[in-house]
Amino acid sequence: MEGLVIKNTGSWYQVRTDEGSDVECKLKGNFRLKEIKSTNPIAVGDRVSIILNEDGTGVITEILDRKNYIIRKSSNLSKHSHIIAANLDLCFLIVTVTKPITTTVFIDRFLASAEAYRIPVNLLFNKVDLYDEDEMEYMDALIDLYEYIGYPCHKISALNQTGLDELKDKLKGKITLFSGHSGVGKSTLINALVPDSRLKTGAISDFHGKGMHTTTFSEMMELPQGGFIIDTPGIKGFGTVDMETEEIGHYFPEIFKFSHNCRFNNCIHINEPGCAVREAVENHYISESRYKSYLNILEDETDDKYRK
Ligand code: GDP
Ligand code: ZN
Repeated sequence: MEGLVIKNTGSWYQVRTDEGSDVECKLKGNFRLKEIKSTNPIAVGDRVSIILNEDGTGVITEILDRKNYIIRKSSNLSKHSHIIAANLDLCFLIVTVTKPITTTVFIDRFLASAEAYRIPVNLLFNKVDLYDEDEMEYMDALIDLYEYIGYPCHKISALNQTGLDELKDKLKGKITLFSGHSGVGKSTLINALVPDSRLKTGAISDFHGKGMHTTTFSEMMELPQGGFIIDTPGIKGFGTVDMETEEIGHYFPEIFKFSHNCRFNNCIHINEPGCAVREAVENHYISESRYKSYLNILEDETDDKYRK
C-alpha cells in the first residue's frame, strides 16, 4: 500500500494512504537511506510504501523517489543535513514592501535557491492595505520585474482577507511551502487559509543551535479544498543550496538566457570580454537589482571556497 507522510513526530509517522485513511507507522528496523546523509530518513511530503499490522498500525518499508526535497545543514562542521520536506509542488514567498522591508537581495536569493531545488515560486505581496502611493508604486515596479522574469505575483492583505481566492485555487491539491521574513504576516495568512491551523503546532521549528539530536517534529497542514501547507521560517528554513560559481547564473532565468551569447562558455559575467549578460544589464534588459543579487551570491560562494 502507498501513501503520503503528513506528520513526523520523531518516533512515528502519520501516513495518509491513497485510499484516504490515516495510519500510524514506524520505520522498518533496518531501514536505510540511500541518497543523502541526513539526520532523518523520512520527511513530510515523502511518498512511502507501507505494510499494515493486525492492530491497524503500519510499517514503512520504502520511500518512493522524490521529485525534490529541501534540506538544512545541521551545522557547518557536520556533513549531515536535515530534510525539512519532500515533493514540494509550489512555494509561496510572502514579502512586504514595508513593515518589515523585504529586500530584493533576500527575494532573489530565495528565488535562486528555489530554482536550484526546482520548486516554482509565487511572490505574495502582503499588507497592501498599509501602503501609501510611493510604496504602491514601488510594489508595482517589483511585480512588473518578477512577472516579466516568470514569477507569478499576488497582491494580498492577509489581515483583511483580500486577494485570497486566487491563492486558494492555486493551493488546491498541492503541497506548498510558505516562507518569508518574520513579521510579514505568514501566520495571519495561514490562519486565514486553514481555519483550524491555530490548533496545530505551526511552524517547523528552527533546528539551529538546538543540537543534532533534538527530536524533530513536523506536520503539514491540510487545506479544506484539498492539498497541504508546510510552514517554515525565513530563508534559513528554506536551507541554502551550495552552488558552484559557474552554476549561479543558471538560477537567474533571465541571466541564464543571455549567457548563451557570452563569448566564453564559462563566463561568470563580471568583467570578461564579450559578456552578453553585462551588456544586457547596461541596456536594461536585465535589472540592476537582479544583477546585484547575482553578484552578492557569487561573492558569498567565492568567500566560502577560500575558507574551505
Ligand atoms: P509572521 O511573523 O510572518 O507569522 O507574521 P504575523 O502573521 O504574526 O503578522 C505580523 C504582524 O503583521 C501582526 O501584527 C499582524 O496582525 C500584521 N499583519 C499581517 N498581515 C497583515 C496585513 O495584510 N495587513 C496589515 N496591516 N497587517 C498585517
Ligand atoms: Zn557573461
